[in-house]
Amino acid sequence: MRQQTMLAPTLREVGAEAEMASHRLMLRAGMIRQLAAGVYSYLPLGYRTLRKVEQIVREEIDRIGAQEVLMPAMNPAELWKESGRWDTYGPELVTMQDRHQREFLLGPTHEEVITHLLRHEVRSYKKLPMSLYQIQTKFRDERRPRSGLLRGREFVMKDAYSFHGDLESLDVTYRDMYNAYVRIFSRLGLDFRAVEADSGAIGGKESHEFMVLSDSGEDTLAVCEKCDYAANVETAQARMPKEGFTPPVDADRVPAPSKVSTPGVSAAAAVATHLNVPLERVIKSLLFLVDDKPVLVLVRGDDDANEVKVKNALDAIEVTLADEATVRRITGAPTGFAGPVGLQEEVRVVADDAVRGLADAVIGTNEADAHLIHVNPERDFDVDVYADLRTVKEGDACPRCNGTIRFKRGIEVGHVFKLGTKYSDAMDGTFLDGEGKEQPFIMGCYGIGVSRVMAAIVEQHHDESGIRWPLAAAPFQVHLIVVNAKKEEQASLAEELYSQLQQAGVEVLYDNRSERAGVKFKDSDLIGIPLRLTVGGKADQGLVEYKFRRSGESGDLSANELDVKLP
Ligand code: ATP
Ligand code: MG
Ligand code: MG
Ligand code: MG
Repeated sequence: MRQQTMLAPTLREVGAEAEMASHRLMLRAGMIRQLAAGVYSYLPLGYRTLRKVEQIVREEIDRIGAQEVLMPAMNPAELWKESGRWDTYGPELVTMQDRHQREFLLGPTHEEVITHLLRHEVRSYKKLPMSLYQIQTKFRDERRPRSGLLRGREFVMKDAYSFHGDLESLDVTYRDMYNAYVRIFSRLGLDFRAVEADSGAIGGKESHEFMVLSDSGEDTLAVCEKCDYAANVETAQARMPKEGFTPPVDADRVPAPSKVSTPGVSAAAAVATHLNVPLERVIKSLLFLVDDKPVLVLVRGDDDANEVKVKNALDAIEVTLADEATVRRITGAPTGFAGPVGLQEEVRVVADDAVRGLADAVIGTNEADAHLIHVNPERDFDVDVYADLRTVKEGDACPRCNGTIRFKRGIEVGHVFKLGTKYSDAMDGTFLDGEGKEQPFIMGCYGIGVSRVMAAIVEQHHDESGIRWPLAAAPFQVHLIVVNAKKEEQASLAEELYSQLQQAGVEVLYDNRSERAGVKFKDSDLIGIPLRLTVGGKADQGLVEYKFRRSGESGDLSANELDVKLP
């Protein structure tokens, strides 16, 4: 594309209200323009990058078998009343009325619409699992939309939703999505961490946020210096029982099977509090007291992290273990003592001699509609037990290993979440299983802030002169500059290169403007295309200068041997 006629209005300065580097630089590079607070136009350069990011997202999400759709931004309020979110979503919800005074909203996310679609269109288990996604404009009336594309009131999101007949299938898709996210953010050249984001203590719905590390990020992450433990600080805090918190004494003495849910407290929380260790340390274990003798039920997964947690729990509890027995593999029922820790895993019961017989009792409780009471937050008692939280501090011990917790700032670019049957229950989203019985869809949802990703890339890839796009997200691959278009040998060599590059399929922006060389170079650094080719004084010798934006590496090339390796 020729820069002369392109809408790419670069600026030397922008107003002080643009505080974030990405906001400032994308305005200055002529990539975006604000229309209203948090509402932006994408100019040609900006839109090319947005589409590159979209395309990478699309390729990786397609690759795991999700199907692309496009749902309406305009949603009838009735659907959101069905799910209950019309009243609970809060002031971020953008609402409107049509000419007949019917209420609508502009979708901030699409669980309702997709659940509505599938409850009518997918009736049989034979269609499951099914994953659908869209890349679409979302609306949220954010309180402080001041960070450019990082927090828009209108922004582009990739939102995916998966539908399953059983929890195992949800686990598989969740893992696929997680891995797709890792590939997407890696391809885009981002330095990121996937952090635990489920705040529901033990048994909380599994959720991870993908955080781009950046000092300008709004989120704080608790990251271990030694192992790969990383959690949103809010999550880490939610897992710390409040200081001095003592569970009701009777709460732990509950080995009996019961169909009753009674208010109580998680045995694991009791252990954590008793020993003054973070709840994380015992998260994969449940401790029961029978006649004041401890029985520790541990989950042994395939995953090393579990082993470490288990070991930490043992170390922490300092129980002398007289015996250890591997008991039957527990499968099936989604209730039962192991609820929060994965029912399909092998379970070890490490028991004090006196209470080894408990193993059978534990197995006995693992039946549909029966479970141990007092063990499962949310199900057995209100999670508000954790409301008064102990704060996590830098320098705290890692809940997983003997490393130290450090805080880092991050930008949330993606979020994967196991929804379970929240929406299908509320909205009657059912299918017929193999026996012809109606079952609620089990769901997952998975978002990526496509336009926020674009800004996050700039936050991580810029210097004082401008943006340094990674090739995968760059609006063009090559910036061709003719220093003085009035000089015949320069103009003709540049024109020749321009058409050669285009024929070779290279995306090239050709600065053929009649600006001074200094202006062109400044703009070029600002826009940040990975490779610059300059046709200048040495054109008569057939020489072109190349310069990589990222490394600054430069030199001369013979124009007829042009075989540049893009970075
Ligand atoms: P935040 O905590 O930053 O408000 P969120 O948790 O509300 O984000 P989700 O509902 O998880 O966001 O939406 C999925 C993704 O959409 C987020 O991970 C983020 O990348 C993106 N996103 C959310 N809100 C915005 C926004 N106002 N502008 C741009 N991207 C956004
Ligand atoms: Mg939000
Ligand atoms: Mg968030
Ligand atoms: Mg989120």
